Amino acid sequence: MNSLHQQYLKAMDITVWQPKDAKVEGTPDISSETPSDAWQDIFQCVRNCTLCGLDRTRKNSVFGSGSNQADLLIVGEAPGANEDQQGAPFVGRAGMLLTEMLRAIGIERENIFITNILKCRPPNNRDPLPYEVDCCTPHLKKQIETLKPKLMVAVGRIAAQFLLNSKTSLGRLRGTTYTYGENKIPLLVTYHPAYLLRSPKEKAKAYEDLLMIQKMLQTT
Ligand code: URA
Repeated sequence: MNSLHQQYLKAMDITVWQPKDAKVEGTPDISSETPSDAWQDIFQCVRNCTLCGLDRTRKNSVFGSGSNQADLLIVGEAPGANEDQQGAPFVGRAGMLLTEMLRAIGIERENIFITNILKCRPPNNRDPLPYEVDCCTPHLKKQIETLKPKLMVAVGRIAAQFLLNSKTSLGRLRGTTYTYGENKIPLLVTYHPAYLLRSPKEKAKAYEDLLMIQKMLQTT
């Protein structure tokens, strides 16, 4: 078992035997790179957006974080309390698990781009309303058009069902390669890390998804 597998198992709270001097990786840098003009325009649109009304309860909008040159785009559901506080996606407990999951397949967060369907936090972490999703979709579409990722990954049911325009359960959607949009960007889906924290038994399946992501990135 290599060290990446060990990191992943550790993130899953599975005890692994390690040498006493094993290196513990530091917190990832989640800041964005210097954005291109187009990227900067989208950033400003998101920052100033008042379209759906969630600006009235947000502390920060959450544009996304990582590289604007990324091959891999991860799309989650919406910012939670931590993300709203910090203005960055997946920075709470679920985000830490996502970071470890990505590391398990050799991916550092700063080299990919991570965002959400909604750029502002729904109060009390409720599910996004269809109206909010409609208002926010142009931001995500512009991000996808500008980034032109080689692979997209939807994390969680809400992101997966939205990107695939499907009502099928996540358990049934995962394990298949789909395409997104006119440019037919390959799209995979996997469990939301918050779900994995609640249902650790599903982590083995999530690892299968990660290996699929790794393989797709190597071949696309
Ligand atoms: N859950 C999400 O879907 N996105 C975040 O950014 C944080 C938690």
